[in-house]
This record gives sequence, structure tokens and C-alpha cells, in this order.
Amino acid sequence: MTTQRKLIENLAAVRGQIAEAAHRSGRTPDEITLVAVTKYVTADIVQQLVAAGCHDLGESRPQELWAKAEAIQKSAALQPTTNKPNAGTQPIRWHLVGHLQRNKVSRTLPLVSLIHSADSLRLLNAINQAAAGSNRRIPVLIEINISGDAAKHGFQPDEMEPALPNMTVFSSLEIRGLMGIASRAGDLAQARREFARLRELRDQLRRVAPPNLQFHELSMGMSGDFEAAIEQGATLVRIGAALFQGVIEQ
Ligand SMILES: *Cc1c(COP(=O)(O)O)cnc(C)c1O
Repeated sequence: MTTQRKLIENLAAVRGQIAEAAHRSGRTPDEITLVAVTKYVTADIVQQLVAAGCHDLGESRPQELWAKAEAIQKSAALQPTTNKPNAGTQPIRWHLVGHLQRNKVSRTLPLVSLIHSADSLRLLNAINQAAAGSNRRIPVLIEINISGDAAKHGFQPDEMEPALPNMTVFSSLEIRGLMGIASRAGDLAQARREFARLRELRDQLRRVAPPNLQFHELSMGMSGDFEAAIEQGATLVRIGAALFQGVIEQ
């Protein structure tokens, strides 16, 4: 099977699983955005995925996001528009899903649609300042350390309410919700509990947050646990391996 056919097949399978998990939990599939995490593949394969109809792309490392976003922009600029039945119709939205170092903020902002991994007030402040300088409002999610692993990035759940007053001052940010990564070591039941806690935190913040902070989005769920995440309320799922199986060595 060609790479293109395999990608189409994987994408259809993942979308089918998303739809089933949504229906099982009384939700509709259009409430859930599939973000294809492209860290395992080259820009060339990413473009084939875009041609297959996937327009939300994610990277965990800023440098990889820069490289792929710029490569795809370049190749789009080289192609006559008449030859792009899919590409011309919908823009690509890049999502940063991994840690952003403050010295990489300014190069990342012009390329991203949503930063999932705002994991400290210092980083939020740096993004806010860079965004203000370019007259943009940047959509961000606050990363919460739901696994309790001290080595992981993110706010502790109980740090969030006290931090809200500090977050309201960032007038160049659109704070839209929360992101979390379930523990790798745990089982699916453990991941489900962590996702449920993240949803409860989101709901609690919605009740108490000032109106300029919106806690609507919940970015949670990866290849191994996205169905459980959807059942617990995910609005964005970040999927890599399941989309690229059979395309890359794993
Ligand atoms: C790699 C990665 C994903 C995707 O993981 P898969 O298991 O390949 O689906 C999602 N989120 C983050 C933050 C990642 O680094």
C-alpha cells in the first residue's frame, strides 16, 4: 500500500474511533478536534496527511514546528494554486503541544494557532509580551501536571485558582482551557481518573474565573488513551502514533 493510501486509511480509522467514543458519551464528533502530532515523520509525509484532509497539526518541539511549518509554506508557494484541490481550501493550523522555552517564543508565535503547553506564569508573561509587540492575541491552554510526576511540566492542579488573578492581566493572551498528559506508567483506568480530574478542574475554574479567562477547551488524550479522554470530555485530542502506523518504523 502506498504511504498516501495508508495515511487515508489511518485517518479514517482514527476519526471513526473518535466518533464512536463521542457517541458513547452522548457527544457529537464535531465537538472534538483531532490534532495530528507529526513528530515521527518528515515534512513530506505531513503534506500527504494534509492532502488527506487533516488540517490541525501538532509538534512537541518548537524547532520541529518551525522546520515543518516553514517547509510546507515554501512548497505551497511553489505550487500553482490550480493544482491544489485540498490545500487551497482550508488553512493549516499548527499547535505547539510540548514545552516552549522563553527564548523560542518570538519565532514560534507567528506560526502557531494554539499553544497547548503554557506551563508557567513566566512563560505566559513572555508570550503575552511578544504577542503585544506584534499586535496579536495568542490562544493558549494552561498545561496541568495531572500525573503528579514531579519531573513533568505544568501547573499543579491546586495552583490554578490562586494563579487566576495573575492570568487576567495578560491582555494579549486568549486563555481557552487546560491541557494534560496522563501518566505513561499507569493503566487506562488511571488515565481515565486523571482525565476526569482535569475536567473537574476545568469546570471549577469556569465557575470562579473572571470573564476574560475562558476555560472551555480540554486538550487530553493521545494514541493509547484518546477514547477514554473523549469520554471524559476532551475537546482536542493529540494523536501521533495511531495516524502513522504502517508509515514509519515503530
Ligand atoms: C508525542 C505527543 C503526543 C502524541 O502521542 P502518540 O502517543 O504518538 O499519539 C501527544 N501529546 C504530546 C505532548 C506529545 O509529546
